[in-house]
Amino acid sequence: TTITNHLPTAELQRLDAAHHMHPFTTGDALNKKGARVITKARGVFLTDSEGIEILDGMAGLWCVNIGYGREEMAEAAARQIRELTYYNTFFQTTHVPAIALAAKLAELAPGDLNHVFFAGSGSEANDTNLRMVRTYWAQKGQPERNIVIARKNGYHGSTMGGGSLGGMAPIHSQGGLPIPNIHHIGQPHWYAEGGDMSPEEFGLQRAQELEAAILEFGPERVAAFIGEAVQGAGGVIIPPSTYWPEIQRICKKYDILLIVDEVITGFGRTGNWFACETFGIEPDIITVAKGLSSGYQPIGGSIVGDKVAAVINACEFNHGYTYSGHPVAAAVALENLRILEEEKVLDHVREVAAPYLKAKWEALADHPLVGEAKICGMMGSIALTPDKASRAKFASEEGTVGLICRERCFANSLVMRHVGDRMIISPPLVITPAEIDILIERATKSLDECL
Ligand code: PLP
Repeated sequence: TTITNHLPTAELQRLDAAHHMHPFTTGDALNKKGARVITKARGVFLTDSEGIEILDGMAGLWCVNIGYGREEMAEAAARQIRELTYYNTFFQTTHVPAIALAAKLAELAPGDLNHVFFAGSGSEANDTNLRMVRTYWAQKGQPERNIVIARKNGYHGSTMGGGSLGGMAPIHSQGGLPIPNIHHIGQPHWYAEGGDMSPEEFGLQRAQELEAAILEFGPERVAAFIGEAVQGAGGVIIPPSTYWPEIQRICKKYDILLIVDEVITGFGRTGNWFACETFGIEPDIITVAKGLSSGYQPIGGSIVGDKVAAVINACEFNHGYTYSGHPVAAAVALENLRILEEEKVLDHVREVAAPYLKAKWEALADHPLVGEAKICGMMGSIALTPDKASRAKFASEEGTVGLICRERCFANSLVMRHVGDRMIISPPLVITPAEIDILIERATKSLDECL
């Protein structure tokens, strides 16, 4: 039989568990409790194989910024497939979608970030960055300058490079990661690790771990620092205001390249095109993916400043992907950027959605289970705790209460993710106040069910 939406859910789940290996999932568990089958989506709502509508509080994986099911995006893909389905950008050829997207990104990105190296995903783009910063220093006659400093509990993807740059213990525990010459310093996670310090003092202290590491290795060994503007997968951890200015100062002082991973924060998530503007950061390279195409096609890239691009362009950089600048993905990304601009989606975020969501989200801090509720633009987190005053964790197994809360949300038709005992949201940027009301109502009901 042909496998379509019309098969019973149980049969789809059986076939799924039998043949489909899922990312970040215990496959055997799917034999007992099948995966929820998502069959379609419009706007901010998913529909499952039982016909139940679910509000997607995560915009897929932080990516569907313009919402699901936009006809213009389908048209852009179809037009490009008919015109030029595929061609590569290796060996002195190029094509109009790649040219147009690179030029558009150079226009949107701040400062002198004027050059784009395309990839198929955020992980691939971070692998590019790793090789690019090391190649930069080698070309400048300093090949020993190859250490990249990143953060514990950062997330930069799950390829060998991306997974190594990330600082997540479960990822490092499998498959020989991290690869050599990547060093992780502490994260600016005041709520979990700040103790009695003020957030500002703690932010400064965590940034100064970068200086300590640079001095320990010797500045002549350190190529670059990489961090997410706001840690996403680590639990939506918004750094204290002192953190990024100090990181910037240290990078400048020792001539260390600064890579800001904007895979989640790019394209409006924090209210500006890039979070570098929100936090006043001047990076040498930013990583983009996800919101670049609103997830309609897989595409990522490194947006590179003049200084680094001049050195890399002067040599043959032996790096690239078959799908670097894929014409269909690039055409779809361009259409996404057109929609973001022409429909003034960033104005909607700044003037309507983010202020409305912030007021409602921060009020969740009054819930008996919630120790803090924080939000930056359209990405927010709450910390679940048995004791608000001490910011204690639940004594139960790591993540259990968060997992229960996530499952309550799912049963109540809301996608909200958990990271340990933190609950996180990152809805489509186009979400309306009425839909935010539904999100908050379902989140509150789910929290109440965890009491
Ligand atoms: N960087 C950040 C900050 C991310 O959040 C992610 C994915 O969640 C990645 C990189 C990896 O992107 P991809 O999954 O497209 O490889």
